[in-house]
Amino acid sequence: MLVCMNCFSKFKENLLIRLAKQEKECPIYGCKGIDIVRLDDSMADAVITLNRKGYITNFSSQGDINDQKKENYFQTYLSINLTKMNLKFKGFKDCISLLERYPIVASLPEGLSYEVNIYNNEYLLTIEFIDQIEDNAERFERMAYAQALFFKYSQSLPDFNRKAFYRKED
Ligand SMILES: [Zn+2]
Repeated sequence: MLVCMNCFSKFKENLLIRLAKQEKECPIYGCKGIDIVRLDDSMADAVITLNRKGYITNFSSQGDINDQKKENYFQTYLSINLTKMNLKFKGFKDCISLLERYPIVASLPEGLSYEVNIYNNEYLLTIEFIDQIEDNAERFERMAYAQALFFKYSQSLPDFNRKAFYRKED
């Protein structure tokens, strides 16, 4: 599914060719720029909810199963770009201790874990659900469970735009 990250309108994939021919303009509200992203259907609502609340996401995946690779695990995840959110912290350790005191990490539901990485000089908080299950049908059930966890998590977070999250300047 394609989503305009400006107005959060959703488009079906078959609009992609038309969008590419035009100048990547959102067909609903005509938002300019290239802020139309492809999201996995099952993660779109969580990603949209987070971005609406000011948690700027970078990557996400619903955790597709690649039968060709014969992998017996899946990873459902999304990354939040802490640098783009202008969070105030001094270095890696300070970042972790800040996050641990705030809902973005403090209220992670059981089953979701997190890690912080620096990627292209930006701090990314990756929240993930990893499970190892041989049986395909069972795996799909666990993936649906994981996707629901991400959606509930996104709904439970306070609105970052309202600054409730900010550390007071010290
Ligand atoms: Zn738009």
